[in-house]
Amino acid sequence: MAKNIQAIRGMHDVLPDSTPLWQFVERTVAEVLAAYGYREIRMPILEVTELFKRSIGEVTDIVEKEMYTFDDRNGDSLTLRPEGTAGCVRAAMEQGLLHNQTQRLWYQGPMFRHERPQKGRYRQFHQIGVETFGMPGPDIDAEIILMTARIWRALGIDDLELQLNTLGTAEERAAYRNELVGYFESHIDLLDDDSRRRLTSNPLRILDSKNPAMREMLDGAPALTAHLGDASRRHLDFIAETLTEGGVDFILNPRLVRGLDYYARTVFEWVTDRLGAQGTVCAGGRYDGLVELLGGKPAAAVGFALGLERLVAILEEIDPGAGTVAADVYLVLMGEAASRAGLLLAEQLRDALPGREVVAHCGGGGMKAQFKRADRSGARYAVVIGDAELEAGTVMLKPLRADEAQTEVPRAALPATLQQRLD
Ligand code: ATP
Ligand code: MG
Repeated sequence: MAKNIQAIRGMHDVLPDSTPLWQFVERTVAEVLAAYGYREIRMPILEVTELFKRSIGEVTDIVEKEMYTFDDRNGDSLTLRPEGTAGCVRAAMEQGLLHNQTQRLWYQGPMFRHERPQKGRYRQFHQIGVETFGMPGPDIDAEIILMTARIWRALGIDDLELQLNTLGTAEERAAYRNELVGYFESHIDLLDDDSRRRLTSNPLRILDSKNPAMREMLDGAPALTAHLGDASRRHLDFIAETLTEGGVDFILNPRLVRGLDYYARTVFEWVTDRLGAQGTVCAGGRYDGLVELLGGKPAAAVGFALGLERLVAILEEIDPGAGTVAADVYLVLMGEAASRAGLLLAEQLRDALPGREVVAHCGGGGMKAQFKRADRSGARYAVVIGDAELEAGTVMLKPLRADEAQTEVPRAALPATLQQRLD
C-alpha cells in the first residue's frame, strides 16, 4: 500500500479545536488596529526574490539560509515571503500610497522560513504586521507601542516585557560599528563561524545571535548609547516619557538590534519567558531608509510584526480551555420524514436565534448514536423528532446539561421556547 502523504516538516494544520482561539486573537487584534485608524492591505504571498535580497539584505539569516526560493515556469526567481514588510513597501510604492500622504496599514497571513522547527519556530508561521509611512517624528513610534500594549490587554495577556532601544542614525551607527568591531576582534576566539563572517559585512547583527555560547561575550559588548546625537536622544526620550506617563513599563536594552542599515532609531520587542528560547512575540521599529533603498523617494516608516503561533501558545497556557465553542441546540432526527422536517425546523430556529449554533443531525443512525453526537457537540438542548412527534406535530425538548425535565413542545412553539430557555 502507498505510504500516506504527510504535511511538510515545520508546517502545521490548525485543527478545528484550535481555530476558535486563533479567530479570537485575529479578531481582537483587528479591532484594536481599527480603533487607531489602521487599514488592512493584502499582498501576494509570492514576490520576486530580488525584493527580499534588497530589503532584508544579503547578509542575514533569512536571505542566506531560510528562504523558500524557486524558479517558476518562466525561469523567474520567486520567493515565498519570509516576512511582510518588503511586500508591503513594494505595494505601497507601486500603488502610489506614499506620495504626499501618511498611511497606517496592517496585514496578516502566512510567512515561510526554512528554519529548524521547534516549539514556537515553524517553517510556515503566521504574522499580523503593521506598517506606517510618512511620519518621521517619535509620536507615531510611541503610538504604535501604546497600541501593542492595548493589544495584550485586549487579549488578556499581562506578563509580556517590553524592551526598547535606539539604533541612532546611520552616521551614529558608523562610529559605533568601529568600536564594536574592535571589541569583537579582541574576542575573536569566542565568535562562531557565522559571526566571524559578519564581522566585516554586518557586525551589528552579531549582537542578535541566538548562540548561547556567545551570550556572555555579547553581554559585555559596548553599547551604542555613547554615540547618540541630540536628535536621536530626544526621539527616544519622547517615546520613553510617553510610555511612562501612559503606564507602559519598559526596559531599555542597549543590546536590542536590527543589523540592517535602513533601520533608524527606534527598535522594540515584546518578550515572554513562557516559550523557552522563542521568547519574542512582537518585534518592530523604525526603518526610514527602506523605501529609498527599494528605489522610492525617502519616506519615514515604522512598523512591527507579531507572531500568531507564539501568541496562541501563550493564551493556551494561560487558559487551556480558552476559545472552545459549543453548539446550543442539536436536532436528533429519527427516519427520513423526521429528517426533512428537522432540517426545515432548524432553518426556523436559526432565523429566530441569531448567533446561536443549531446543528441538525445528518447521516442517519440510531437514537443512541445520535445522542452521543449531541452530547459531544456541547449543545445545551437536544430536540428529538421521531414518528410519534411527527404525527403529533410536536418535538421532544431534552436538556443535556441542566437538571431539567424533558418536555414535549408543539413544533410551532419551539423557537419561542428555546429563545427563553437559552437566554
Ligand atoms: P526570532 O528572533 O525568534 O528568530 P525574528 O527576529 O526572526 O525572530 P521577525 O522577523 O522580527 O522575527 O518576526 C516577527 C515575529 O514573528 C517574531 O517576533 C516571532 O513572534 C514571529 N516569528 C518569526 N519567525 C518565526 C518562526 N519561524 N515561527 C514562528 N514565529 C516566528
Ligand atoms: Mg529568526
